[in-house]
This record gives sequence, structure tokens and C-alpha cells, in this order.
Amino acid sequence: MQNPSVVLHGPHEAYVEDRPIPVLSEVNDVIVRVAYVGVCGSDVHFWNNGGHLSKVKEPLVMGHEAAGIVHAVGPNVTNVAPGDRVALEPGIPCRKCRDCKAGAYQICRKMVFAASPPYPGTLTKFFASSADCCYKIPDSMPLEQAVLMEPLAVAVHGVRLAGVHFGHKVVVFGAGTVGLFCAAVARDFGAALVLSVDILENKLAFAKEIIGTHIGRTATPDSSLTPEENARLLVEAHGLGNGADIVIDASGAEASINTGIFLLRSGGTYVQVGMGRRSVQFPISEICDREIVVKGSFRYGAGDFETALGLVERGCINLKPFITNVFPFEQASDAWKATGRGEGIKNVIEAPTD
Ligand SMILES: [Zn+2]
Ligand SMILES: [Zn+2]
Repeated sequence: MQNPSVVLHGPHEAYVEDRPIPVLSEVNDVIVRVAYVGVCGSDVHFWNNGGHLSKVKEPLVMGHEAAGIVHAVGPNVTNVAPGDRVALEPGIPCRKCRDCKAGAYQICRKMVFAASPPYPGTLTKFFASSADCCYKIPDSMPLEQAVLMEPLAVAVHGVRLAGVHFGHKVVVFGAGTVGLFCAAVARDFGAALVLSVDILENKLAFAKEIIGTHIGRTATPDSSLTPEENARLLVEAHGLGNGADIVIDASGAEASINTGIFLLRSGGTYVQVGMGRRSVQFPISEICDREIVVKGSFRYGAGDFETALGLVERGCINLKPFITNVFPFEQASDAWKATGRGEGIKNVIEAPTD
């Protein structure tokens, strides 16, 4: 095969198939020889349901968290050269629309995003990208860890939107990869206290390892209590005073969203990073009565990948413990299934090596 790729045809139906090797079609294009691809929750949705935000109509090359080695570059590319090890930002915005021009390219309606139908993903040998979506990684960063720059950039974006700064008390719901990264980034942005909340004890044990116990705290809500009661208990147990300054929800779960809103101090900021059901019930009167600021956070924008890389380079975040398992290319679906069963933190798929 020239360019073996893992292609999804529908729910629980994916095969390794050949695809043409992409060519440099624009002066700023870069062809990357993919090394590793990380698995995230959206891959599991695709595998189980044949789609996530939009359904697969045509067979789709999967994968969007990727790192690899630059294979070829267009004549105008100056930031990377063949042989460079890079983390990939998987979306190329149109650069021309109002949102792009306003500096919010993550909400560009013409975004070409890897494995977002109909655009092919990164679970392939050769992937075509653009120079500004390729970030050179430090020599000390193994390629399999570089796939984590994508979820780390998601966390950086959310924490930036939340406006976390020195002295803030921050609560993060959900202790999956993105939630843990949000907690770690909030700590590194100067939070005085970071509380990681999840319903799974094993995730919280890992959260303790990642955010530490100096300003880091963990908690499990009591499922027999209402969100309002849980919020009160968390405020008391963790010295949140009048409430948290900032709540970041990386779970998408209705109970977490509600607890988070009750946890906030008046005038606090709530940021939705996690994607769950399309509609949930939450107490909008609290937003109004207590002037709570609610923001949505989608993927990442300008500077987020650089900040993510900088945090790792300075030793703020140790990526090694996040990588649970490396699956062979031919067993990509096993990696999705393992993630679907909640096994490990980040499962990674190795791209073809020959
Ligand atoms: Zn993802
Ligand atoms: Zn645009």
C-alpha cells in the first residue's frame, strides 16, 4: 500500500485501506509522515455511532490527534523542514471569513478539520497539512507524547477563556485527559486552589499525581444528593468561601454542570469545555441573579499550541504518565474500544512504520 489509512465505513466497521499519497498543492503545504495518533472520546462516538457532530456519509479516514516527521514542504515554508519532528494542529481554517479575520479561527464555518466529515483524518501514513499547523517539538519529547499537544491545547484554550490568573480558586469537573490538563494548566496559570471533581476514584488518584497536593484537591460528588447539596459540601470541604472563582466543565454531564453553577461565587465564570448531550437542564436563574459569566470553549485558537508546548518544555506538565497503551495500526479499533471502556488515560495508535 502507498498510503495505508484506517477508514471508518459506519458503526463498528473500519478497515485499513489504501489512499493516494497527498501532494503539495499550495506553497505553504507540508506533508507529514505520521508517527502516532491519539484516541479521544469523539473517536469512540464515531466508532459506536458512525459519527459525532456529523454522521459519516462517505468512508472516512479517522484520527485527529497526531504527531510525526515532516516529509516534504512547499516552497514558501520556513518554520519546518523535512526531518523535523512535529505536533500537528488538525484544523486548517479558511483564513478569509469574518471569524478568521477577527482572530477566532476556531469557530470558522469553513474549517477543514481532520476526520470531521468529509475531511480525511490523521490515521494514515502521509497526511497533508499547512506550515502554520506544524509545531516543532523539543528533542526531549517522544513522538507518542506529542499527540497530547492537541488535548493540552484544548485545555489551554479553556483556561485562557476562563481568565484564570493568580490567586483564583478553580474547580474542574471531569478528570479525563482534557479535564486533568485544564486542572494542570489552571495551576500553572497561578490558581491558588484547583479542585478536580470526578465520579471515578481511579481517575482522581491519577489527578492527584498530575496536579499534586500543594494547591491540588480532588473530590467525588455524592450521587444521592442534589447538585445544590453537593456544591455546598464541596464549598465547605475545600474552603471555597463564597464559591469558586472559576468552574470549568470538561465532563459534559448534566449533574456536573448543575453542581458547577451552584459552586460559583457571584460574578464567577463558568466555561463549558466538555461536550455531552446537546440539551441539558441547568438553573439559568442563577446565571441572571448572580451575574455568572458563561462561556463556551471550542478546540483552540492562536497561540494555544505554542503555550501547550511551552508548558511541557518548562517542565510544568509531565506527559509520560498520560500514555497508557500503544496499539498497532491494524488494531486501531481495539484502541477505540479500550477508550470506550474507560481503560487508561490516553491510548495511542502507531502509524505504519515500514
Ligand atoms: Zn479529540
Ligand atoms: Zn474562516
